[in-house]
Amino acid sequence: MKSVSRLACVDRLKNQVVLVTGASSGIGRGIALAMADEGARVVVNHIRDRASAEEVVREIRSKGTDALVLEADVSREDHVEVMFASAVREFGTVDILVNNAGIQRDAPVHEMTFQEWQAVIDVNLTGAFLCSREAVREFRRRGLIPERSIAAGKIIFISSVHQVIPWSGHCNYAASKGGLMQFMKSLAQEVARDRIRVNGIAPGAIRTDINRESWEDPAALESLLKLIPLNRIGEPRDIGSVAVWLASDESDYVHGATIFVDGGMALYPGFSSGG
Ligand code: NAP
Repeated sequence: MKSVSRLACVDRLKNQVVLVTGASSGIGRGIALAMADEGARVVVNHIRDRASAEEVVREIRSKGTDALVLEADVSREDHVEVMFASAVREFGTVDILVNNAGIQRDAPVHEMTFQEWQAVIDVNLTGAFLCSREAVREFRRRGLIPERSIAAGKIIFISSVHQVIPWSGHCNYAASKGGLMQFMKSLAQEVARDRIRVNGIAPGAIRTDINRESWEDPAALESLLKLIPLNRIGEPRDIGSVAVWLASDESDYVHGATIFVDGGMALYPGFSSGG
């Protein structure tokens, strides 16, 4: 069987600049590396773990393209404005935004603190708004450069299967991802006339730090796999390859769509034997 990486093309994003939020680890790191494989220069955003962000930059540079670490809290308006201004100053523009940064603060509603609710909404939903607003402003300022891409800009939202699957014990997270879905679609409608393409990816269970307890322990993994028809946990590169395609001109007629990259998790696996 061919692996995803062996199927990959090269240089589909040559001369383009991508800003990936939360790119120091997990899915964001996977997307940053996949975009670099296609020739993009990458802004690696993070909030706390500078050493890991710098390691991602080193990996990208070893591929022959350029990268830059920009620390910023995506839920802070002032941070996001400075981050975009720095990206444009260093790399000339931003062509692609990946709204990936996200957190979980899990608790049943009767025990959830206001801070736990607010932190998840602030990072997962408001952060995506603040970054998208700066990206749209930059795409409109720069306009179309046809030799680079037939779109003036691309925005990709990393949502979750929980934009549609309810998740007991995680109401703040599911609410943030449901909100993200409607934000993505409404924005897609709004900016189409500017030749800005907007889409989403809804990952299922991907092996990262955010869900370590559900794959590190064999019993937990076995129970997780019951929810995944393809019977394997996803890897960050599974998301990276789809993000590259959505960012490239190959997907130019895809707009306002969410691609579920979940091994079939959203297919009501409980009904797989007839219900
Ligand atoms: P992860 O490994 O925990 O990575 C989270 C990233 O977000 C880190 O780079 C972190 O930076 C950054 N971050 C956190 N708060 C931030 C803030 N306020 N401003 C800027 N960056 C911030 O998680 P992941 O699994 O890769 O998750 C990435 C996205 O995928 C999230 O939106 C998550 O909801 C979504 N997702 C994940 C899964 C899954 O199974 N893993 C499934 C569905 C959806 P530092 O390293 O500097 O702290």
